[in-house]
Amino acid sequence: MSVLNTKNVSPRSLSLLTAIAVGVANAAMVFFITFSARISLIVLGVTFAVIYAVYYYTLQRFIYRKIKLIYKFIYQTKATKREEYFYENVLPQKSIDEVSKDVEQWAAQKRNEIEILQANEQFRKEFLMNLAHELRTPIFSVQGYVDTLLGGAIDDAEVNKKFLTNASKGIDRLVRLVDDLGEISKLESGRIPLIQETFVIQDLIKDVYEEFSLKAHEKFITLSLKKGTERPILVHADKQKIKQVIVNLVENAIKYGNENGSVIAGCYEMDEKNVYVEVSDDGPGISEEHLPRIFERFYRADRSRARAIGGTGLGLAIVKHIVEAHGQTVNVRSKVGVGSSFGFTLDRGTA
Ligand code: ADP
Repeated sequence: MSVLNTKNVSPRSLSLLTAIAVGVANAAMVFFITFSARISLIVLGVTFAVIYAVYYYTLQRFIYRKIKLIYKFIYQTKATKREEYFYENVLPQKSIDEVSKDVEQWAAQKRNEIEILQANEQFRKEFLMNLAHELRTPIFSVQGYVDTLLGGAIDDAEVNKKFLTNASKGIDRLVRLVDDLGEISKLESGRIPLIQETFVIQDLIKDVYEEFSLKAHEKFITLSLKKGTERPILVHADKQKIKQVIVNLVENAIKYGNENGSVIAGCYEMDEKNVYVEVSDDGPGISEEHLPRIFERFYRADRSRARAIGGTGLGLAIVKHIVEAHGQTVNVRSKVGVGSSFGFTLDRGTA
């Protein structure tokens, strides 16, 4: 490091520089008075030594130690008694460069913490905004129908039943939203333990298919297991929660799927430890720009269509939560006009 590098000057180099400057000036003055090189050299040596010692001591005592005090304060805010002893007795041996490096590190760490807090704050704000928006739509719809009915439509036999049915649909939507929100906050609190058991994954998929047979039939959609993956595979997981995952994926596949389409679930043994489960459809697909955000709360690929279909925008967020609570991963592959495949891993079970 250059002595003249003022940005990073150390107490030692500052003292050295000052001692040289004063020493040379003194020696020059003495030389012009005495014309004796010997005396000038002695003056140079003595001045240099005295100035260097005094300057270095002063810098150390009044600046360097004060900086250290700040440094200790920074670290002691969270220090235990033992650590305090360590800082008191070990730290003074550190150089000013080390001290400043440590303080820089501390500042960077604090900056990082602040950034995380700001991101969380942003996330919270967005969540509240989205939530207000999601609640507003069905509430306004119900309010509109009820007001119209009270305003006289109740006596109009042609529309009264239709308006009441629409109001009831709005209320159903609100109930679904509140249910899904409850589910997500339960999962996020981390207080709900996983009740793991060993079961055949294909049997669970068939149960879900059974529950959705009517809805699938209405759109002439077939629900099946992929050929060659029917052989029973044991998994070890929370059966009820994994059922919820499959329900959400199959429900979406039917909801967004085309009429006369098909939903196919495949189960694969990846290795001795893991099983891969995939629910595929031949529906409209999801364009690439939406794929990275599809598991976020309230994110919808096609807003108007998804709303019209009546989703809460929380189904895939719940899927992700449940799968990750199992220490597993979930992914999506999709191509517009071809279809979508949602897959997740599970632990293999032993009989
Ligand atoms: P929603 O309640 O809106 O269905 P989800 O979290 O379940 O919320 O899904 C998020 C969005 O992902 C949906 O709004 C839809 O745009 C898209 N999506 C999910 N599954 C499919 C699918 N199988 N095919 C096409 N789009 C899908």
